[in-house]
Amino acid sequence: MRRVVCPGSFDPVTNGHIDIIGRAARQYDEVIAAVLGNVSKRALFSVDEKLEMLDECTRAFTNVRTAKFDGLLVDFCRENDIGTIIRSLRSVSDFDYELQIAQMNYQLSGVETMFMTANPQYSFLSSSLVKEVAQHGGDVSSLVPPYVEQRLREKYKE
Ligand code: ADP
Repeated sequence: MRRVVCPGSFDPVTNGHIDIIGRAARQYDEVIAAVLGNVSKRALFSVDEKLEMLDECTRAFTNVRTAKFDGLLVDFCRENDIGTIIRSLRSVSDFDYELQIAQMNYQLSGVETMFMTANPQYSFLSSSLVKEVAQHGGDVSSLVPPYVEQRLREKYKE
């Protein structure tokens, strides 16, 4: 069983995330899309809200399940018998940051990190930009699943 994790903040999940999760699901037996709980960044959505959106938006993939985790990703990997972390690269600046983390995770635990290149269609896309646009009433319908678009609309109405 080749089980991998796609970790992230997913605040909120975007079409770029779904693209990577779907492509990973074609390459591996099981994909766990895992929401990081202990983020230092200030989040718009709670961990449970992020998880619920991720759940809803990955339902179509039969070999994807979702989870949340706190603490070190490599501990989550060990507890769940995961040998590989999938991360995606949108740009050279992603690479600089991701290389360091991947090497640290390997050093800590021997867990491998595999990089997937972002779909060029979504390489400009990030959760923070989506929030920025949604906050000011911009149209995010081509950037996030309809369910997330709705949740963003509700959130900014609050
Ligand atoms: P983190 O804070 O851990 O970077 P994110 O939710 O921003 O969490 O990203 C999770 C993963 O999804 C990362 O590997 C990131 O590179 C990838 N990702 C984010 N946005 C996109 C996108 N538009 N296209 C492809 N991959 C993306």
